[in-house]
Amino acid sequence: MQIYRRLRGFSTWHWHRNCSGWPANNYVEESRATRPNENDGRLCRECTVWDSLEAKEQEKKSGRTKK
Ligand SMILES: [Zn+2]
Repeated sequence: MQIYRRLRGFSTWHWHRNCSGWPANNYVEESRATRPNENDGRLCRECTVWDSLEAKEQEKKSGRTKK
């Protein structure tokens, strides 16, 4: 499960604590097994970037980097 947060009154979901928009106050929090879809709101673009950065880090750790 993944924690998702959005600011009250806003429809953008965040799921990375590193995100500059990660809500610290006055937020709605949900624990979800799947990512919110278009019906639930919008996905933060910065969090999406963090996702791809993390995926790259994991690739490095698993030693599968290509030369
Ligand atoms: Zn975000």
